[in-house]
Order: sequence, then C-alpha cells, then structure tokens
Amino acid sequence: MLEKLPVPFGLIRYGVAPDHQSTKAVTRVLDRVLSRDQVSFFGNVEVGRDVRLSELMSLYDAIVLATGAACDRRLGIPGEDLPGVIGSGSFVGWYNGHPHAPAPNVRDVQSAVIIGNGNVAIDVARILAKGPEELAASDAGGQVAAWLAAQPLQTIHVVGRRGAVEAKFTDHELAELGTLQRARPVVNGPASLTGDTAVVRTLRGFAESASRDTPVTINFHFNLTPTAFVGDSKLREAQFRSAGGETVSLPAQLAVTCIGYESLPCCSAEPANGVFANEDGKVDERLYVVGWAKRGPSGTIPTNRVEAQQLAQRIAQETHRTERSGGEGLRKLLEKRNVRWVDYEGWQRINAAELARADAGRCRQKFCSPDEMLDAALSPQLRPA
Ligand code: NAP
Repeated sequence: MLEKLPVPFGLIRYGVAPDHQSTKAVTRVLDRVLSRDQVSFFGNVEVGRDVRLSELMSLYDAIVLATGAACDRRLGIPGEDLPGVIGSGSFVGWYNGHPHAPAPNVRDVQSAVIIGNGNVAIDVARILAKGPEELAASDAGGQVAAWLAAQPLQTIHVVGRRGAVEAKFTDHELAELGTLQRARPVVNGPASLTGDTAVVRTLRGFAESASRDTPVTINFHFNLTPTAFVGDSKLREAQFRSAGGETVSLPAQLAVTCIGYESLPCCSAEPANGVFANEDGKVDERLYVVGWAKRGPSGTIPTNRVEAQQLAQRIAQETHRTERSGGEGLRKLLEKRNVRWVDYEGWQRINAAELARADAGRCRQKFCSPDEMLDAALSPQLRPA
C-alpha cells in the first residue's frame, strides 16, 4: 500500500469529522490489515514523484487506484476566489490537521454560509457551531479550536439548491444538529416543507420544537441557487436566485462550498469528468480503481468496503502468478533513489507519539507537517542524540 503522506487512512483520518471518533474507529480494522506479514506499507511515497505508475506495473501483478477524490468541485460563479470562500475539501482538511490544508484566511466571522445539502455540509455546520467544550474529546488540533473560539459567530446558513425532500443529508446526521449546546437549527419558511421523508420530518420537528435561546442559529434554506459571492477584498455576502427568480443575499464573512469532489491525476493515469474511466473497476489490463476515484464522491465507509471486497475477488480471479518482485523490488528502487519511506513500524511510532502528546481529554494530537511525522517515525536507534 503506497501513500503520499507518511501516514495511512486518507479520508478517515482527514475527512471524517474529528468529533465523530466512533466512525474513525474503523482504522482499527484497517490497521490489522496493515499489520499482516503479506502487506507492506510505503508511506511518504508519491506515485509520479518517487516512482512511476509504469514502474509499479512492472513490479506488481495488479495495481489498484484508491486515490479518492481530493479536489473540490467548483461552482463556476463570480467571486469564488475571494478570501473567505473555501471548498469543503480545504476546510474539512484544515479542521482535521491535513498538512496541505491551510487555516481559513478570514477573521471576525459572524455569519457563515454553507452551500450544499449533503452530509459534508452538516459536518461543517456542526463543527462551526460547536463550542470548545463540545470538541474537547475530539482530535481537532489546538489551532483549530483556537480559530473556532475566536470567531464571534452568530449565524450559520445551510443552503440547498433544491427542496428539502431532495436533500442528501442522512436523517441521523441532520438530527444531531438538534442536540448541540450553543446552537439550534431554524427552518426558513417551514410552511414550504413538502414531502414525507425522514429528513423532512426531522426538519419539521426542528421548526415545531420550543425555541431555545442559543448564541448561534443554524438556518436551513431551500430552493436557492448560488449565483455570486460579493465583496471587495474579502467576502461580504453570498447571492442566490430563488425558485421565483428573485435575488436573495445572505451576509457572510465565510462561505464553505460543500458540493462534492473530483479525482486528481495519478501519475500517467488521468481522470475524466472527475473519475477514472473504468469498466466495473477495471481501467486497463492489471490496472483497477475503487471508491470515489471509481464512481465519484458518494457513499459511506460500508459502501466502499463492499465495493473493495468485490474488486479484490475480481483481481483474485484475473491475476495469475508471475515472477514480479513486488514489495522487495519496490524497496530496492526506493533505496536506490534515496526515498525515505515510512513502513508499518514507522507508522506505529507516529501513532503512539500522536496519542502520547494529546492534551488531557483530547484523544490524539496529530502532527500537521510531513517533517514532524517523518521525525516521529524514526526508530529510537536512528534518532539524533
Ligand atoms: P453529496 O451528498 O453528493 O451532496 C452534495 C450537495 O451539493 C448536494 O446537495 C448537491 O445538490 C449540492 N450541489 C452540487 N453541485 C451544486 C451546485 N452547482 N450548486 C449548488 N449545490 C450543488 O456530497 P457530500 O456532502 O460532499 O458527501 C459526499 C459523500 O460522503 C456522501 O455520500 C455522504 O453521505 C458521505 N458522507 C457521509 C458522512 C456521514 O455518514 N457522517 C459524512 C460526510 C460525508 P443536488 O442534490 O441538487 O445535486
């Protein structure tokens, strides 16, 4: 298993919200797989930089692209590059400590607009809405908690371009917003809630429940299509077109677009329309693809697990024993190129160090730079005195 960062677990480590530790706990299952003798982990190895895809093809009998969808989709509307407008991949990566995701370049956020009606929009709304004590047991870093606590946030708008009945949130994630300490959900125009899905019933429940006084409100709006972000040197408001054609403006200093993701190229393999073209997981002879890189950014961890099992069976049927040298050959190639990779034992040392350095109450304090990770991966014998 090759990974460009020194640490494994991709979207579970950097996409699943830091306050959803029970979901992140699936890493224990994956860690058991990594610990097997037949499995070699090569962290800090980037395909295209340290080794070419064609070289891997000559070393291994089958290659699987499981590179996900790491690039934010864009709305393609005016003002999208204004400071204060951020894609969810960047924002979620930042609050999860991803080394390549910078902190939001805005301050004094009183009003935030979240565009999209999927579970990522709910995650972003919940993390913004939570007070410091509600994040205490998470693995959100100190700098994340400090940025969140510094914002005088009062209003969060969650905006869908279609009706509530078409929203893609799952009911369970939506309902969690009704349990927050310092924020409460509010439905804009509850009379317009039509249909009878679990999501619509939960939204009606929000609208009907006795109003609590909270410092933050999470306002749901439906049937508003984003048309522009407006501001001079930074975001001032987000503009939408209603179903009736009117312009609706929502003041905001922060806008997070939660509208899905696209795959990035993997060395010589190029995605088209956000995914790698494939026939039921097969890209080419001995080259396969799974997960979001295969079918786009949809489905939860169990969806991907089922799909991975099916692909593994297909590869087992289609692969014939050859003399390719596999991990042994890759190790030699990386050594020849002076690539410093992290193996499973190195990852275990990083993991142990992150657990040990967590503040009281926090479950983990991630290293946020590859250099810190590489340092923590060193065995005690190799550590400078
Ligand atoms: P998603 O569920 O596909 O939602 C994307 C949202 O963006 C939809 O409401 C979509 O509206 C909207 N959208 C797309 N293009 C737009 C545009 N040009 N203008 C306005 N709105 C636009 O994607 P996601 O929220 O990124 O989640 C990705 C996957 O991860 C999903 O399968 C999700 O369930 C999963 N996930 C699960 C959890 C969890 O289980 N706790 C947490 C996070 C993510 P339309 O419907 O109109 O296209």
